[in-house]
Amino acid sequence: MSRTTFTPITDFTELDLSPPLAKAIVKAQYTTPRPIQAETIAPALAGHDVLGLAQTGTGKTAAFAIPTIEHLLAHQKKGPRVLVIGPTRELVTQIDQEFRKLTARTKICTMTIYGGVSEKPQIQKLERHPDVVCACPGRLLDLLGRGFVDLSRIETLILDEADHMFDMGFLPDIRRIIQHLPEKRQNLLFAATMPKEIRKLATQILTDPFISEIDHTMPAKTIKHTLYPVREKRKIEMLRHFLRQDDFDSAIVFTRTKRRARQLAQKLEKDGHRAVALQGNMSQNQRDRAMDGFRKRNYDILVATDVAARGIDVLSVSHVINLDIPNVAETYTHRIGRTGRSEQEGKAYTFITEDDGEMIAAIEKMIGMPLEIKSVPGFEEVFIPKKTG
Ligand code: AMP
Repeated sequence: MSRTTFTPITDFTELDLSPPLAKAIVKAQYTTPRPIQAETIAPALAGHDVLGLAQTGTGKTAAFAIPTIEHLLAHQKKGPRVLVIGPTRELVTQIDQEFRKLTARTKICTMTIYGGVSEKPQIQKLERHPDVVCACPGRLLDLLGRGFVDLSRIETLILDEADHMFDMGFLPDIRRIIQHLPEKRQNLLFAATMPKEIRKLATQILTDPFISEIDHTMPAKTIKHTLYPVREKRKIEMLRHFLRQDDFDSAIVFTRTKRRARQLAQKLEKDGHRAVALQGNMSQNQRDRAMDGFRKRNYDILVATDVAARGIDVLSVSHVINLDIPNVAETYTHRIGRTGRSEQEGKAYTFITEDDGEMIAAIEKMIGMPLEIKSVPGFEEVFIPKKTG
């Protein structure tokens, strides 16, 4: 794959965008382009395929939405013209919202497709030929198979969080969906990491792409990472300690299991916190309510499992607390990507037990720096995890 050269923009006005889009960017208060936007918007506008290595929180959604919307505004045609595929309902909803925000002053129409909710409204919306369809692979393939979606007019395909889609086993579905698209189209592929399967997919579907790599394994520099040794049995006690601290504002607490997420949210509520769980056993309605409530700050604490939390976009979270260390090093970066955004200092605390040495070593290797180990008064644990990674 070759790299076409484009000078990164320093201001959105350099792009000479259509007035409604330019105004929406100002209204969204996107004053300075984020690095991924500075690099990829111009090549995408010029019609190139793009491979963007960037995690959630870097501004990647606007990076693909802005050039796509500009193309849509250039001519009026029957939709759907843009297909965005993402791994989770939460993510596709957020993508749809970003598109809506940036198309507010236009006639561009967007919609979401995902499972776990009634398909009827989705089918009805499809009949009205929306311009942009933001979809999860499973439901899309289902509707496609039954003739409710016509993808023959798609001009741009966007695969977001492609690495997560691979983790979740969606690549075969994606390949099947791609068979329904016109061969001539623009492809924009975004991923936080590049496992070899994604590399392969990129080689197969992208033509001479512009490649942008934004610190893809490095979490935001405004995050302070700390490891706290604690016995398994005292983790909740330690969590309560942090939630009492002055600098606590809002937190996402990650647990390894759905059950633990549910029980912990209940416990924290009993303690008087405004806490809510987000885990895979909840219905779509419950999940939407939890996410919305957290976004609107009706809750201060979101207790989440990894799959449910993918792609959550919440600004201003003061703490990410890993009650349980993740099972995979990459997950650490995804989890803590929820704090330290937008130049605010974020805190990433990970509670560690004696058995976590190997995972700590893997995480340190991935983020390229050692993690500080601290102890909390009253929780001075005797063990130091052995790093054997
Ligand atoms: P994303 O990586 O797309 O999830 O974006 C993370 C957050 O950054 C979203 O809340 C966006 O609204 C916000 N954002 C995107 N681009 C900019 C920008 N240029 N300036 C300020 N905020 C931005």
